[in-house]
Amino acid sequence: MTVLNVAEICPATRALGPGQRFVIWVQGCCFNCRGCISPDWIPQTQATLVDPLQLADCILSVPRTEGVTISGGEPMLQAAALSELFSYLRQKRDLSIICFSGFTLKQLQAKADPTINKVLTLIDVLIDGQYIPELNDNQGWRGSSNQVFHFLTPRHLSEADLFTERKRDVEIHMRDDSVLMVGVPPHNFSTDFEGAVDIASKFTEA
Ligand code: SF4
Repeated sequence: MTVLNVAEICPATRALGPGQRFVIWVQGCCFNCRGCISPDWIPQTQATLVDPLQLADCILSVPRTEGVTISGGEPMLQAAALSELFSYLRQKRDLSIICFSGFTLKQLQAKADPTINKVLTLIDVLIDGQYIPELNDNQGWRGSSNQVFHFLTPRHLSEADLFTERKRDVEIHMRDDSVLMVGVPPHNFSTDFEGAVDIASKFTEA
């Protein structure tokens, strides 16, 4: 059985693409970008193994979901599971699909891998390339300006500027025993966040 090795999910966010989106971060990356925002998800170890069809049903059960964003980790290392997930989703509903990859589109096409090619036919927007901290221009739904938005379908073409120029924001999702940050953080986010936590804890202690 094909399974997707999932590091984390967020069932509903507006911080990683247009509209309300279900976000999946896969476990395992073949790159090791300096300044990677999710170093815990680089090791190619087993996290949570999920049946892609069950995950698709879970996505479809979330009210008002307009799209899915896949990040990681490196999604294209799990192309077979993504192909199943996206195909099933598209059979059921015409959701938007956005995918990040450290591979460039050219590199993916050069692999001539039928499964990766199938995945590419199912993605609306591919955000490609590794993260380069010196090129982090503090705007848009990408980590650094070398990363290219490939509009593989016309779905989001009319809002292309939003992808490249949008003012960054993040959502903080509280979990039982942890906190999940969703989105591409603006410059100084860590300092501002720690300051806000300090202030909040002073109010709690008072
Ligand atoms: S490709 Fe993405 S997940 Fe992989 S190391 Fe680079 S920034 Fe991190």
